[in-house]
Amino acid sequence: MIPGARLIILGRQGAGKGTQCVRLSRHFVVPHISTGDVLRAAVREGSELGRTAKEIMDAGGLVSDEIMVGIVEERLNHGDARTRGYILDGFPRTVPQAKALDEITVDRPLDCVIDLDVSREMVLQRISARRVCRDCGTNYVASGFDKHQWICEVCGGEVMQRDDDTPDAINRRLDLYEEQTSPLIEFYGNDGRLVIVDGNASPDVVFQRMTAAVEAARRPS
Ligand SMILES: [Zn+2]
Repeated sequence: MIPGARLIILGRQGAGKGTQCVRLSRHFVVPHISTGDVLRAAVREGSELGRTAKEIMDAGGLVSDEIMVGIVEERLNHGDARTRGYILDGFPRTVPQAKALDEITVDRPLDCVIDLDVSREMVLQRISARRVCRDCGTNYVASGFDKHQWICEVCGGEVMQRDDDTPDAINRRLDLYEEQTSPLIEFYGNDGRLVIVDGNASPDVVFQRMTAAVEAARRPS
C-alpha cells in the first residue's frame, strides 16, 4: 500500500483544484479536508468551536484565524488524518494560519505545498464557459464565448451564465486571490516547501505531475 500524504493544495479558482484534490485523496487514501466542509461539520456537530463560529457567522462576521486554526486542529486529530495524513484545501489562507499549522503539525510535518498553476487566461476561459441550469443546477460548458441561453437536457429549464462568472467578476476574484495568496506562496517558497505544478494540461497529466511532485518532495535529499 502506498504511504499516506500530508499536503496543502493552493490554486486559483478554475485551476482544477477540486478535481485534483479528490483524485489525490483516493490515491493516497487520505481525507480531503476543505475549510468550508470542516467549518460546516464543526457547526453541525456543535463542538465548542463550532458553536462560537456559528454565532460569529450568524452575526455576519468573519471567523477569526484563531477559531479557524482550532477547527482545523480538531479535524487533524481525527484518526484518519493522524494515521494517513490529509489534503488541506482552502487552509491556510494567511501567514499567521500557516505558522499556527506548523505548530500543530510539528510531530508529523507537511510533505509539501503544491501550487497548482494555471495561466490566468486559461482560468478565464474555463470559468467564462461555465453555464448552469437555473432550475436543477446541472452544469454545462459553453463553446467559446457563446452567450446564448439554451434548454436543460435534464429538466427543460433555462441554462444560463451565473452573474459572477462574467470576465469582469472573474478578474476581480482572481486579483483578490493573488493578493491574499502571494504572502503564503512567499512563506512556503522561502523555506523550500513549495512545489509549483504546471496545471495547463489534461486532468490525467496534471494528476501524474502532482503525485510525482509529492514523491520527489519526500525523497530524502
Ligand atoms: Zn435543469
